[in-house]
Amino acid sequence: MLSDSINESSKQLTKDGKLRHLVSLENLDKNILMRLLFEAQEYTQFKKLPDRIINHNQEHTIANLFFEPSTRTRASFEIAANRLGFNVINFDIENSSGKKGETILDTVMTLKSMGVDTLVIRHKEAGIHAQLVQDIGDECIIINAGEGHISHPTQGLLDLLTIQQEKEAFEDLTVTIVGDIAHSRVARSAAQGLTTMGVKELRLVSPKEFMPSKKLTSISKHFTNLDEGLKNADVVMALRIQHERMEDTNNINLDNYIKNYRITHKAMRIAKPDAIIMHPGPMNRNIEIESSLADGEQSVILRQVANGVAVRMALLNQLTKNHEAQ
Ligand code: ASP
Repeated sequence: MLSDSINESSKQLTKDGKLRHLVSLENLDKNILMRLLFEAQEYTQFKKLPDRIINHNQEHTIANLFFEPSTRTRASFEIAANRLGFNVINFDIENSSGKKGETILDTVMTLKSMGVDTLVIRHKEAGIHAQLVQDIGDECIIINAGEGHISHPTQGLLDLLTIQQEKEAFEDLTVTIVGDIAHSRVARSAAQGLTTMGVKELRLVSPKEFMPSKKLTSISKHFTNLDEGLKNADVVMALRIQHERMEDTNNINLDNYIKNYRITHKAMRIAKPDAIIMHPGPMNRNIEIESSLADGEQSVILRQVANGVAVRMALLNQLTKNHEAQ
């Protein structure tokens, strides 16, 4: 059984409570979330930033270190950093010294010596970001771009922004997340953010084998029946089955999963008529989501992708400012 333990995240704050690193959304103050969402919303307009800001940011260098595959997250961190005027290096892990046995701390220290001040890291090991904050957090900014099944805080932020744009008050919402909850860092970070924002109901729907070993947050409720989970939902998020996080995938009965848990037009009839449909990507069309539904009117999936750039701009900007103020 996978561990559901989440990193202790208080070290991501400065002494006066500002965001210094982003390790996890767990227990992150609502005001910090709201400040990020507010600034991200401004960036959705894609206006050119003043030269004064761009020139200042040119002093900063961000390294993207992805030890697990990524399309959206990595590209959007790069685009976000470029829009702000930062220098960006995309570290080629396949051809790096990590392959020669170098520890991640040595890799990071090497990059730091070359002037990198922000490290955007995706890694399968739980706790690695918190460890790096402890080891070198005084000197660099550490951003979690995906941590095993534990946490994906920037995905959580872009999910919150997308919901906020469509639905206004979080307090009135029933949000339903459907799929492989047990192995999903997306579900965990979304659940943490939605709980802090005070949604009315947070439902997690999955077959027993994809149930987490304990409740994700104080308000989350687990359902094994899709109809019960979808009833009157305002927001429905479908998740991919995370085969890469399972030791043995032979026991998964995909036909059964599709029959009972795929989000289809028919299944959505039980949700609110104006419910939105989300998916973090990559999608496995016609497995967890009916293909035409993913492209249909209720889908906000591509908006989520666009919002990913905006939230990462807000995050890089605020973390850099907080770092400079130290
Ligand atoms: N892209 C998301 C993640 O990195 C979701 C997924 O891979 O299914 O966790």
